Amino acid sequence: MRILKKVFLAVILGIILFLAIFFMKSVKRPHPLEQTSYALGTILHFQIWGKDANQALEKALSRIHDIEVHMSTHDPNSDIYKVNVSSGSSFVPVHEDTFYVVEKAIDYAYKSSGTFEPTIGGLVNLWGIGTPEERLPSEEEIANAVSLIGYEEVQLDRKNMSIRLPRSGQHLDLGGIAKGYAADEVVAILKRKGIKSALVDLGGNIFVLGTKPDSTLWNVGVQNPLEPRGQYLGVLRVSNKSVVTSGNYERFFEKDGKRYHHIFDPATGYPAESGLLSVTILSDRSIDGDALSTALFVLGKEEGLKLASSIEGVEALVVTKEKKIYGTAGMDDFFKLTNKEYTYEKGK
Ligand code: ADP
Ligand code: MG
Repeated sequence: MRILKKVFLAVILGIILFLAIFFMKSVKRPHPLEQTSYALGTILHFQIWGKDANQALEKALSRIHDIEVHMSTHDPNSDIYKVNVSSGSSFVPVHEDTFYVVEKAIDYAYKSSGTFEPTIGGLVNLWGIGTPEERLPSEEEIANAVSLIGYEEVQLDRKNMSIRLPRSGQHLDLGGIAKGYAADEVVAILKRKGIKSALVDLGGNIFVLGTKPDSTLWNVGVQNPLEPRGQYLGVLRVSNKSVVTSGNYERFFEKDGKRYHHIFDPATGYPAESGLLSVTILSDRSIDGDALSTALFVLGKEEGLKLASSIEGVEALVVTKEKKIYGTAGMDDFFKLTNKEYTYEKGK
């Protein structure tokens, strides 16, 4: 009887030990929660590690939804839509998110000499790139849309959290910055939920939170702008960083053998022709990376790299039509070229 009891106890202990080891292993090397969704006009992808991943993702998606509702250009309930239809007349009270992003956008317009231009909405609508209405507008239409651009004119009333566009027909468009803001907000939510490791990809606006679960750096691929999505020209080895790429391959149409893409030069009213195929920005905050990737795409290599170098904590990588890659000085610590069709020149 005694022996039987001992055997029984040993078996129970064995089972407990086995379960404990199994459980510890699965905690140590868990699978991430993975999800793909659609919002902000793009595909979102998440990989989140940690026990509260589900709850964190749910909160993040609802936050993204709110941001979209506030900042969409075509939803009649959005702040931006209301500001646009009230152009030339009244101030419109907006949500504090909208006020913050518009303020940031104008800040970047000043920093980038107006190459990042939040009042570019009329021009974006006119071309309709990525929509069923996309077309090459007439020169007259373009000149008219350009004449309505002017970030210096936007009136911000902080006390009443209200925005006014002074001239009728002026339109705000936060398409070049809102995803960055959303990425930062998602990361803040994940952190609050105790998440230590996550990859957030809002249509190419990538944020890697912490390190990978095995404590190594993330490898974020830099898209080869001349190949289908998922083919990379190199990798960025980073942790806790935003990686944002803007390129002429994202959204475009072709007419008579010419490509018309979705990043406009506010000075000409035509898609930016700065000799670049793409720009990648590494930064601590994705809102900065988003605005800057768009601005640098318009500015081109020389001016663009100069601007990025002047901002602390920001590194940039630009890819030219000649398949040459140039970076800011600090980029060299992170970037590794993998595609030998390209050449990479370190920044000085
Ligand atoms: P993506 O949306 O492909 O990530 P961007 O961040 O570069 O690329 O944003 C492009 C979007 O920003 C356009 O679809 C348009 O809504 C808006 N936009 C286009 N040109 C400019 C510009 N010069 N300044 C600010 N926003 C712009
Ligand atoms: Mg952008």
